[in-house]
Amino acid sequence: MMKKYLIYISLFGAPLFWGQGKVSEKTAYQQNLTLSEAENAAMAFDADIKLSDEEINLDKKLFQIRKQFLSDSEAKKISLYNSSFNELKPLIESSKLFEILQTMPKGGLLHTHSGGITDVRWIISTARKYPECYVYDQKDNDQFISGQLAFFEKGKVPNGFINLDKKLTSNPGFEKELEDLLTLKRDNLCSYTNYWIEFEKRFKRISLLLPYRPFFKEYYLKGFQDLIKGKVQHVEIRYIFDELYDFQHGKYPLKTSITDLQDILKKVHQSDPQFTLKLIYSSFKFLDNDNIEKQLETAFEMKKEFPDMISGFDLVADEAAGHHISFFEKSWAKMKGLSKKYGVELPLFLHAGESTSILNKNILDVVPLNNKRIGHGLNLIYFPKTMEQIRKQDKLVEVSPLSNQILGYVSDLRNHPARVLLSNGVQCSINSDDPSVYGYTGLSYDFWVTQIYWELDVKALKKLVFNSINYSSMNDGEKKKALTYLNQQWNDFVQKTNQKLN
Ligand SMILES: [Zn+2]
Repeated sequence: MMKKYLIYISLFGAPLFWGQGKVSEKTAYQQNLTLSEAENAAMAFDADIKLSDEEINLDKKLFQIRKQFLSDSEAKKISLYNSSFNELKPLIESSKLFEILQTMPKGGLLHTHSGGITDVRWIISTARKYPECYVYDQKDNDQFISGQLAFFEKGKVPNGFINLDKKLTSNPGFEKELEDLLTLKRDNLCSYTNYWIEFEKRFKRISLLLPYRPFFKEYYLKGFQDLIKGKVQHVEIRYIFDELYDFQHGKYPLKTSITDLQDILKKVHQSDPQFTLKLIYSSFKFLDNDNIEKQLETAFEMKKEFPDMISGFDLVADEAAGHHISFFEKSWAKMKGLSKKYGVELPLFLHAGESTSILNKNILDVVPLNNKRIGHGLNLIYFPKTMEQIRKQDKLVEVSPLSNQILGYVSDLRNHPARVLLSNGVQCSINSDDPSVYGYTGLSYDFWVTQIYWELDVKALKKLVFNSINYSSMNDGEKKKALTYLNQQWNDFVQKTNQKLN
């Protein structure tokens, strides 16, 4: 050993000894690296977050848990990066990280849709309790599709519909069949699916179910309860307005859905007074300007009557099939006048850039508009100038990682564009889009992605969670209250998780 050491000294000489006295001094090269690292970190979206000692402690523990999970998966030869969410779901659910994330306060869910918030199995079991609920069990035709659910009065049931409860009782296998017809799963990452066609069929199958007033009330109560269980304190729903109906009264005016939702909230507040809700009036990208102008008029009317419930306006649907946002220039130009007429503002919360193509320029179209947040923004990374503008405008991008994988925009979640946005200082929040259609509830699965695939630390996690309140459409007073609650929940989570992981 000694001999080896002497050879070493004779080969490399005295500098080794000189260097020993100056261990703390960095070479110019090392200083450069340190500076680069600091400069990159300063550009990131979470640069302003300073962690407490307790949070740093939690961060170290979560880092170890992730490391262990990755090495266990490696040892078991689990293909983490080339498997779909559906394939990995049981593994995610059994992971320690998921267990921790389930208890983490999530703040708000800023991007979800009225047709996708409640568990599909619950929908089936609840719908069958109504003797007036029927299911279409024939091949698709122009009017109805297989698995479509609806309520009918006795004697007025269209051909092809069969009583849901009778069908499920006589054919127990049908429950699973119907569940599959109501959920969209990407079974693996390499087989062909026409995602949007299949996706829209899922919504069509429940579209006659949701406006039935008694069912509507149960659906939202269950949806809010699920969110609360998943530690979500605030939700903003892209809401498609439809006239509610029942067989005693027929159709109700549009605003009944809002007053009913207010009643449901009152019920929820008995046990969870912190829970808050906003609705973003949503219409469709495939409509024309005349139609959108009518929709805007209605949205403004509703906003005037329910200023605390309606927060904005959006257009949904497959961006590759619908009109681009600048197609509606004429409609957007009318908004100032409408604002004056109704005495309220109706900001936009547009879906834009849910695409991997540079030919889709929706993300450019939203910059000059009064657009508060962006839904998806996947192809924003291909327009660097626009990305910089959106960062400077401080507009948040609502990211829905699992939705993006299931609808075929991203396969290997390590390559999700949000990672580029976050490191470039674009503010984001984590969302679930249409969890019930994707076969899950809550936000923990999407947060799991940020841990395993995006390698985010507690600093980033905290920023994402707090962004969901800071960039919500709540007013200043509501926000202040929500932040006080979230802060307290967050500190509690950090402390309890640290104790548990000791
Ligand atoms: Zn969406």
